[in-house]
Amino acid sequence: MVDHVLVTGGAGYIGSHACKALARAGYVPVTFDNLSTGWRDAVRFGPLEEGDLMDRARLDQVFARWKPVAVMHFAALSLVGDAMRDPATYWRQNVTGALNLIEAALAAECRDFVFSSTCATYGDQDGVLLDEDSVQRPLNAYGKSKLAIEQMLGDFGASHGLNSVIFRYFNVAGADLEAEIGEFHRPETHLIPLILDAIDGRRPALTVFGTDYPTRDGTCVRDYVHVSDLIDAHVAGLGWLREGRGSRVFCLGTGQGFTVREVIEQAKLVTGRDVPVTYGPRRAGDAVSLVCGSERAARELGWKPARSNLAAMIEDAWRWHQGPGYSA
Ligand code: UDP
Repeated sequence: MVDHVLVTGGAGYIGSHACKALARAGYVPVTFDNLSTGWRDAVRFGPLEEGDLMDRARLDQVFARWKPVAVMHFAALSLVGDAMRDPATYWRQNVTGALNLIEAALAAECRDFVFSSTCATYGDQDGVLLDEDSVQRPLNAYGKSKLAIEQMLGDFGASHGLNSVIFRYFNVAGADLEAEIGEFHRPETHLIPLILDAIDGRRPALTVFGTDYPTRDGTCVRDYVHVSDLIDAHVAGLGWLREGRGSRVFCLGTGQGFTVREVIEQAKLVTGRDVPVTYGPRRAGDAVSLVCGSERAARELGWKPARSNLAAMIEDAWRWHQGPGYSA
């Protein structure tokens, strides 16, 4: 009997890559998604159950139907700008949604839970290299809602034996090596796809948000991780839980940060094209610098990022961007 894994947000960018990797690893990924920001087309590796995390009865139905051995929880609202404008929606959807999901999982006796968290739970930390023990001081309702879910998982671990692997990562980039799936958000707000849109004329220019940050060139620093590497860690995290190794937090970063200007320069090199750029004010809620190491993931999960160098990430994103799957 093949094991099923419930993947919330399986129609989204990271979730769809997780489904592909899970199918390869011999699981059946069951996508649970309300298709608010995901795409039916991206669900190719297992069944789709359309539904909303706010609907507990629907969740119960899905657990009863598939009897998943584990949950991978990606579904969330994740835009800093929106979180600053509309914190209520972030708190409601992310936190109540996760609570419903945890309760439905426990009711179905599914106790292995992989959670997609973020370095945005750290907030600004003067550019230090973050790790699992760094203090968490999120700057916006997005980061705060993810931190609340981390804490909730801890509480349900203590009270109900829920085992969770929490991954904190930040700027996920790149695409499936076969360009079958990739990053496609509407509206798009992420740096690398916006740069590629500016390069191929889908939008007139990229606006750089702030040039007066205390960094080497005045723009924000981020740690970019290839989506395929990130998902490798998730599959290893699932194995960790299935082996009964208990709850654990892992940071998934490369330990190296790039400024917005450096990403733009690298995109020029990779594509051989110019990037039209304009300069604007800072975006509210942005941290100056977020870079995290992954020593624990390397040591305990055997995680070795293979394609998380900036050129490879932009190359893979560009291949997907130019292919038939990407349509603006
Ligand atoms: N950024 C930018 N212009 C844009 C989009 C993003 O200058 O149109 C910057 C943003 O301020 C941040 C970095 O690029 O410093 C990465 O932003 P993104 O939205 O991709 O990810 P986030 O760091 O918010 O998760």
